[in-house]
Amino acid sequence: MSTNKAWLQELWSGLALGACAGLLAGLFGHFTLWLMLGLLAYLSWHVWHLYRFHHWLALDGRGAMPDGMSIWHELYYQVYRLNKRHRRSRRRLLDGLQQFRVATAAMPEAAIVLSAEGEIIWVNRSAETLVGITRNDVKNRITNLLRFPPFVDYVLGGVYERAVELPSPLDNGRSLSAQITTYGDNQRLLIVRDITLLTQLEQVRRDFVANVSHELRTPLTVISGYLETLSGMDDVALNRYRRPFEQMQQQAGRMRSIIDDLLFLSKVESPRGTRGSELVPVAKLLNVLVAEAQSLSGDQRHEILLTQAEATALFGSEHELRSAFSNLVFNAVRYTPPGGRIELSWKIDQRGGHFSVRDTGVGIAAEHIPRLTERFYRVDASRSRDEGGTGLGLAIVKHVVERHLGTLEITSVLGKGSCFTCHFPLSKLALNRAG
Ligand code: ADP
Repeated sequence: MSTNKAWLQELWSGLALGACAGLLAGLFGHFTLWLMLGLLAYLSWHVWHLYRFHHWLALDGRGAMPDGMSIWHELYYQVYRLNKRHRRSRRRLLDGLQQFRVATAAMPEAAIVLSAEGEIIWVNRSAETLVGITRNDVKNRITNLLRFPPFVDYVLGGVYERAVELPSPLDNGRSLSAQITTYGDNQRLLIVRDITLLTQLEQVRRDFVANVSHELRTPLTVISGYLETLSGMDDVALNRYRRPFEQMQQQAGRMRSIIDDLLFLSKVESPRGTRGSELVPVAKLLNVLVAEAQSLSGDQRHEILLTQAEATALFGSEHELRSAFSNLVFNAVRYTPPGGRIELSWKIDQRGGHFSVRDTGVGIAAEHIPRLTERFYRVDASRSRDEGGTGLGLAIVKHVVERHLGTLEITSVLGKGSCFTCHFPLSKLALNRAG
């Protein structure tokens, strides 16, 4: 029955009741009395249906739908339909939840939901086998259970673009990678996966490069030594070989630089390498770099300025940071024409510390920028070689900055100049200490 029809029927019943009261009043008089009696009967009928309706609802609408006439039948039917729809969507939701549980239980990765405060809200089954965290650890802080310092820095740092590597707390020989994704009301999903095989392969590659470089060092030292002795000899017979000797010495020097950079790169690439935790006085370091850059510039007379140097130190390895920063500064000198301007700055804001080198040099076309930090990637290979570059400088910078939980940003306009900025998180700054 449609709703309109039900209401029409209800209206007709009311009118019939009024007509009956009128008829009985015509026969026996007392119209008001008959009308009151009629209304009482009508009210009692509705109260009875209200009682049955309430009783049926109290049973969650599970019993048989009560039969009824006119508007009550319509009401029962509408509630019955709503109830059926609600039960169907609940079943669908429960099925979805069940499937989600089965899927997360079958996942080889550990999935851990964290609150904004870093407390564990939910864990899947793999979390127990990978990191030893179970449902009993719910409400505990993740940083109290997984205490590996770079992981703690990562969780507290709030910058989750990259994953962080950590040793398995259950088996020191296994390596894990952890990545956080934020969602909803500042909740975080932590996914931990086993990357032991990948790390072993990476280690084999790094060890190979480091061993080859190391093995090449000794013969190269011997060759360079002999070349130096030969070029220093005051022998007329050797005079015609002066030029080839010079070139051989130059190339041997280049090879030594490449080997040194390769060895340094394999060290900063390795998660096994010790991460320094010294207080690095950045402002002091930059003053030294400005002096070194001026001496490299020599008679090219670049204008080299330290525009801002806040008195804030950085936690990390002084040797690594010095090497990374000097690579950026020396690149600026090498790729800026004589008389150009080079600005160094160290700024602090609410996001962290930012070291930048801005130059008015040759600039870099946009298509090269994403590949600059690859090993041996050069925009202009012959220019780089002429300038004594190894093609490894920016790869070293990127790894050193990442080891300090930072990111490297490169902006450049071809023909106008470039800006290389290293962003470090607040957790790496010693805000109350002079630097
Ligand atoms: P290289 O030893 O060749 O300088 P890097 O890794 O330091 O190697 O740099 C990679 C390439 O990036 C360089 O070959 C050069 O083409 C480009 N590059 C680096 N710094 C600058 C700069 N300040 N201005 C222009 N180009 C740059």
